[in-house]
Amino acid sequence: MVNIKTKEEIEIMKEGGKRHSFVLSKIAEKVVPGVSTQELEDYANELIKEGGDKGAFLNYTPKGAKRAYPASLCVSVNNEIVHGIPNEDPLILQEGDIVSLDLGLVHQGLITDSAITVGVGKASDEDRKLMEHCKEALFLGIKAARGGGHVGDIGHAIESFIRPLGYGLSEGLAGHGVGYKVHEDPFVPNQGKRGSGELLRPGMVIAIEPMVTLGTDKIVLAKDGYTYKTADGSNAAHFEHTVAITENEPIILTK
Ligand code: MG
Ligand code: MG
Repeated sequence: MVNIKTKEEIEIMKEGGKRHSFVLSKIAEKVVPGVSTQELEDYANELIKEGGDKGAFLNYTPKGAKRAYPASLCVSVNNEIVHGIPNEDPLILQEGDIVSLDLGLVHQGLITDSAITVGVGKASDEDRKLMEHCKEALFLGIKAARGGGHVGDIGHAIESFIRPLGYGLSEGLAGHGVGYKVHEDPFVPNQGKRGSGELLRPGMVIAIEPMVTLGTDKIVLAKDGYTYKTADGSNAAHFEHTVAITENEPIILTK
């Protein structure tokens, strides 16, 4: 069931989202060749604690998972699409890698979810374009998310921009409602038909998150039970914001 947030709850999420965006931008500054994913996780925990908040992903068990997620941050490198675990078997980031940083933050009991993808040193032209286009797709999806419209409007806006550029859209991975839990209804796919799916109502809070690949739509789950990779080994980008639906364009909470 979709729950509608009150004005007061949305105000709390706005404050949480501001903190969230600050933490993500500080972590992004640390992304340089030679840094380990473990160091990014440690820094995320330090920043979250300084703000008096909590990481929403740490010890969270999503539906269908066999164990709780062991970190606050998801760090997904190159052909990893989402849910890369930074503190088990940490990776040292190399010049030219691209890295998705995905964070869930709990502020006063309410969760925001947001991700960015950044280059390590200088990314290739192809990867830079991939990241720019993925971010643009996110903003087109956000623009399409209006009260009175439908969830399918968001997927349609993302898909109709991404497909003609020749990219893949990670199959089965989607956005979602968010607030009291990391994943709430509705499911917010990155593809769809205009006017289809759940009705968007003012007060709904959703995470919109295109996951775009240089190749296939097909995804594979790694042995750790969390990391999703592209089936063909192509690189992937991921951008995400938590937004509150209104009568007009939504409010981006995580900016
Ligand atoms: Mg996320
Ligand atoms: Mg999400």
